[in-house]
Amino acid sequence: MRKPIIAGNWKMFKTPDQAVSLVNELKELVHQDQVEAVVCPPFVDLPGVLQAAEKTGIKVGAQNMHWENEGAFTGEISPLMLTALGCEYVIIGHSERRQYFAETDETVNLKVKAALHHGLKPILCVGETLEQREAGIAETWVEGQVRKALADVLPQDGEQLILAYEPIWAIGTGKTATADDAGKMLTHIRGVLKELFGMEMAEQIRLQYGGSVKAENIKELMEKPDIDGALVGGASLKAETFSRILLF
Ligand code: PGA
Repeated sequence: MRKPIIAGNWKMFKTPDQAVSLVNELKELVHQDQVEAVVCPPFVDLPGVLQAAEKTGIKVGAQNMHWENEGAFTGEISPLMLTALGCEYVIIGHSERRQYFAETDETVNLKVKAALHHGLKPILCVGETLEQREAGIAETWVEGQVRKALADVLPQDGEQLILAYEPIWAIGTGKTATADDAGKMLTHIRGVLKELFGMEMAEQIRLQYGGSVKAENIKELMEKPDIDGALVGGASLKAETFSRILLF
């Protein structure tokens, strides 16, 4: 009953022309509507990508945004700007933003609330470091991130939310969490969502795994009851590899 959702996070890759070419290649390779396909290119690529993706079933998201509508915030992009373009999704709290751009649980929470307020669907990212996993505190840490990111979010807004569990040690390293570990964490996260939003709403929220997802491991991951999709970095940068993941 939850439609699978697989999103490509293109990070700081692809010029506007390259991004449009990639969408054009993807739309030749992927004709299906069993999986919701989303691409998240850099900001400057969004207008071209939105145009290229029109009427294809490929959805478009941004990789970040500010929580204010406008203001003296040099270098930032607001939710109003994204909705004006026609963006549907926005990645919030990716570990690279938390690590290199000083995002905190508090700013992540402000961004999640702003996205929901503007009708953007947040892809909220959480995940532990290798040290935290080895210390046996991964579940507690991730649960804390989820609770802080969703503080004061209304249960009825849960429907719009996508949550991605991305263990930091698995991002871009070629090390995927085992399907069992990823599945277990996402079941734990759904338990937290049940507490926050109620059983019925929590059952509707789509949960993704992210971290070195590729054509070779997507199937096994998707077989887990609480894994409804994936957030894909490296393997989403080529039509050939991303289409194989989308068509798993
Ligand atoms: P990766 O990145 O697939 O290259 O590990 C995932 C992500 O950062 O979203």
